[in-house]
Amino acid sequence: MYQKKYYSDFEAKKLICDIGKRVYQKNFVAANDGNISVRVGPDTIWTTPTGVSKGFMTPDMMVKMNLDGKVLAGNRKPSSEVKMHLRVYQESEETNAVVHAHPPVATSYAIAGINLEKPVSPEAVVLLGRIPVAPYATPGTEEVPDSITPLIKDHHAVLLANHGALTWGRDLIEAYYRMESLEHYALMLTYSTNILNKANELNCNQISDLIDIRNNMGIKTGGVPPCDLPQQQVQQEPDKEAVIQEIVEKVTKRVIEQLQKGGAL
Ligand SMILES: [Zn+2]
Repeated sequence: MYQKKYYSDFEAKKLICDIGKRVYQKNFVAANDGNISVRVGPDTIWTTPTGVSKGFMTPDMMVKMNLDGKVLAGNRKPSSEVKMHLRVYQESEETNAVVHAHPPVATSYAIAGINLEKPVSPEAVVLLGRIPVAPYATPGTEEVPDSITPLIKDHHAVLLANHGALTWGRDLIEAYYRMESLEHYALMLTYSTNILNKANELNCNQISDLIDIRNNMGIKTGGVPPCDLPQQQVQQEPDKEAVIQEIVEKVTKRVIEQLQKGGAL
């Protein structure tokens, strides 16, 4: 079972800067896009300020807030997008970190309104499950947290329509890795589905085994991707048309026999 432990203020601020560099260097954001937060108490977080590149942050830039959105410490203003972070912490007690970015491949799925859920990669099934697209909401408004609220309990990664992606986890590394895995999965899906034009999907039995692995890792959220039964099982299902054909043949034979007996033929 995962042991709940909050980061100290010092650790949280430093870790946010480290992860900010990775997010920026991995091209998950451009310019000043994206935001990161970390929970340091039941009702308090540290988060990134508005208007700075995530690749060039220092710990003194961070803003401390409570879950009602009140600034408790720091000289800068938080991002208006912190509202969706606050909503995730309010809805999910086990969440201790949230990452928001605009990774280009995954965001393209968000623009197309396509859920990331095709089961092509065991890692994606275990680490991400299925990633739904939350309805479009005007950035910075309360509509954004409202759009993701129904998805928070069952998932730990969502796409924001025409906007970007949001991931969360029990610590900042987990939340960040989910963002990395999400973009990687989106890229593999694009190559297989749209460039090679062939994607062999995992079947329901294979997915069920992966969900068992996920449960053993103590991960209860993520959802289950839609799947098909294995080919063997599909073939074992009785073929309705063949059964009907067999009955028709038997009945026809009986009728002919009866008619022959009666001398009508
Ligand atoms: Zn954004």
